[in-house]
Amino acid sequence: MAAKKPARAPSAPPYSPAEVMDLLAPVYGQPVARPSRDPLAELVLTVLSQNTADTNSGRAFIQLMRRYPSWRAITEAPLEQVIETIQNGGLARQKAPRIQAILRAVAEQSSDYDLGFLEQLPLEDARAWLRALPGVGPKTAACVLLFALGLPALPVDTHVERVAKRLALIPETATAEQAHTLLEALVPPERYYPFHMLLIKHGRRTCAARRPACERCPLLACPSRIAPFAGA
Ligand code: SF4
Repeated sequence: MAAKKPARAPSAPPYSPAEVMDLLAPVYGQPVARPSRDPLAELVLTVLSQNTADTNSGRAFIQLMRRYPSWRAITEAPLEQVIETIQNGGLARQKAPRIQAILRAVAEQSSDYDLGFLEQLPLEDARAWLRALPGVGPKTAACVLLFALGLPALPVDTHVERVAKRLALIPETATAEQAHTLLEALVPPERYYPFHMLLIKHGRRTCAARRPACERCPLLACPSRIAPFAGA
């Protein structure tokens, strides 16, 4: 039987972002941010994770780190060799040249491949610098700023976007770009990390794209909730 789609969400959200987090934290645990302090590794890992499962991109990242002793070595390696190294991560023919182009751009700015200078910039300048890199969109830039540097940027991946739309926090028609701007305005900056993590977990474990498990969802007032079948 075809999956029943959630009803279209009306415009008034039943929950604030804070209320959503209060209801999801007891289910998934309270996320605690621990910035990695390694923005370039975060950037490369995030590029590898684009349109790929986390396990595969993690494996490709480890292979990259094992094969090459430095960022410079990856930059200067033959493209075909880098493609082969990350091929288990998926889309290697797109991602290998993207990663090398990013590393070349980083080397132009910082000869020792240190992206720590981003912390000294105003947030929007740091975001703009990252966005100017090849293949770096709003989500990837926000991942680097939030996960590596602990700066207030909110990554909106496919799970966060879907759950936010189902809860009518943002309009159904919002683009990925608009979703970032709208949610950053809605969520208190000091809570970007838990909001991101809780909505990702909820999207993966409960509010799945095709068959959301509304019957065990704690967001009882969700306007997209699928009613259980009535009768015996
Ligand atoms: S799983 Fe929860 S958030 Fe998702 S559509 Fe169902 S009730 Fe809404």
